[in-house]
Amino acid sequence: MYVRIVRPGAADRESEPRPIEMPASLPLLPLDLDLVRGFRFACRPDCGLCCFAEPRVAPEELVRITTARPDVQLRGHGRDRFLAARPRGGACQFLAADRCELHALRPRPCREYPLTVHAGRRLQVSVVLSCPGVGLEPLTSDRPARDRPDPFGLGSELGSLEERRKAARRSPIFETEHRGRRVERFLRAAGRWQDDDEVRRALDPRPPLPGPADYPVAAPPPEEEGLERLPLFFDGRAGPVAFAGALGGWDLLELSATGGGRSLGRFVPPERPPGLDGGAARLLSGYLRYMLARDAFLASVHLEMLDTESGSVTDAARVALRELGATVLARAVVRSKLASRDRTVLTEAEVAGGIRATDQDWLDRPTWGDRW
Ligand code: SF4
Ligand code: SF4
Repeated sequence: MYVRIVRPGAADRESEPRPIEMPASLPLLPLDLDLVRGFRFACRPDCGLCCFAEPRVAPEELVRITTARPDVQLRGHGRDRFLAARPRGGACQFLAADRCELHALRPRPCREYPLTVHAGRRLQVSVVLSCPGVGLEPLTSDRPARDRPDPFGLGSELGSLEERRKAARRSPIFETEHRGRRVERFLRAAGRWQDDDEVRRALDPRPPLPGPADYPVAAPPPEEEGLERLPLFFDGRAGPVAFAGALGGWDLLELSATGGGRSLGRFVPPERPPGLDGGAARLLSGYLRYMLARDAFLASVHLEMLDTESGSVTDAARVALRELGATVLARAVVRSKLASRDRTVLTEAEVAGGIRATDQDWLDRPTWGDRW
């Protein structure tokens, strides 16, 4: 469901166990739902994109699944067990003819997608915008997130999250706060720290848009690194499609649930920022603001700052937003070429395609918090 691409990096170093003194009693945090308000969701029955993944399985779920399906294939060990996907970039072993064979017993990440939770200083819920069943209208709304209407179509996903929150042990969340405080102390000592509100005030409501210096954008991994490492999107005609870096351009590969990828062609990504019509510029700006509001984004920026020597959190977030915006537009251009449109000025619908093709990829970046 989520975390298809797992990049080893600073988060892994930061998550090495260290002794922590636990307070005697720990309050249960509420779910922060501001970033879910206003969204509408309806799963597309022809899609299956989110099943090109290896969902995490909790110990109690594993008992039920192995009883019903003794043939289940697992990956990982200890507390980190995952339902294995089929090899060569295939979908989860239980996806058959666009349906989940495990439906009643599917693990929590499958019940909760397209919601994602970042556990850091709070439990912040946001919507995975790569899911084609999610409308992007709230990104262009002028109303502040907390004043928008309740989300539509996400009742069972929110219910599952709330159940899990009530049953959660507080200690793992306390550990992530502790990791965050260590990162903060390190950046404070270097005179580089700014708190999240200050960074957001500096960059919102006019987040930095990408310019010529942000191109060309980083190529996706090549096919040889494994189809399971490639960024994905859902195409109305081809179904799940992956980007792969290649000599002279990016390959687009139509993926199959049983594994393997069929080339849809090689496309040259842009060397400079494409033009945007009014709706496209507004949508891109709204998306960058949404990303800035996600704690996962700033927690990931903090980690990346550990590998650099200068600049404040605002400076680093500004660079990361420009890089994100440039990637969205480059992927939008390549997607529009796949649809036989070679535009110099992108429309709102094309930028939406770039956002769909990028959001999950960025949510998979390491942070000092947890994908709870
Ligand atoms: S990605 Fe979204 S629309 Fe597609 S199957 Fe998953 S939940 Fe449904
Ligand atoms: S368990 Fe079912 S819903 Fe979850 S990834 Fe596998 S096929 Fe998809």
